[in-house]
Amino acid sequence: VKNLAKIYKSGSNTLTVLQHIDFDIEEKSTVAIVGPSGSGKTTLLGLCAGLDRASSGDVILNNINLNNLNEDERAWIRNQHVGFIFQNFQLLSTLTALENVMVPLELRGASNIKEKAMELLEKVGLQDRASHYPSQLSGGEQQRISLARAFSNSPKILFADEPTGNLDTETGERVEKLLFDLNREAGTTLVLVTHDLELAARTQRVIRLKGGKLLDNAE
Ligand code: ATP
Repeated sequence: VKNLAKIYKSGSNTLTVLQHIDFDIEEKSTVAIVGPSGSGKTTLLGLCAGLDRASSGDVILNNINLNNLNEDERAWIRNQHVGFIFQNFQLLSTLTALENVMVPLELRGASNIKEKAMELLEKVGLQDRASHYPSQLSGGEQQRISLARAFSNSPKILFADEPTGNLDTETGERVEKLLFDLNREAGTTLVLVTHDLELAARTQRVIRLKGGKLLDNAE
């Protein structure tokens, strides 16, 4: 990430949400992004994952500068290399757990998608909930389905926005374990936004944001 900035404009108002952001994330490492509410953590995660585009600066992922790409190209890169876990799960409510996990596999043109999706559900311990709809699942179960979905393209890098934020301690620990196991076993780079300083302390590196700047540069 090089000299990244994100500025929102509405009418004559401009809001600088991120500025002068520079850092490198090493392959296969684990990183936490922490900072007060409104400091720009979610925005930064979305830019790094190619969900959104920066106002200026570079996000280079796998030697590709995401900021030079249009939305379709960024979607392609995300599908190839990136997993993303949202704080509020963002499962598709009209699809079953199994179907939610099948979607990204279908988009990639994978074969045997039902079997693969079932294996992913087994990995997160929810094979017996395959035919349930999100509304029939607990928060922790929905988060585990969203993990299965994020794992489905064997991402090189997984971004997680408050992955345990809405979960009780026990379920949170289970989700945490799945994330760190993926890092250890598959070498997936893990970048997570969290308010939980204990979780942050378990990562190899902590990036601190304040008022849209890295803490080292913050006023
Ligand atoms: P929290 O810990 O509360 O989730 P955060 O550190 O993740 O906060 P962001 O969600 O990145 O913070 O938001 C940073 C700032 O950007 C906030 O002031 C927010 O109001 C503003 N913001 C976010 N999205 C938009 C948008 N689409 N348009 C305008 N302003 C936005």
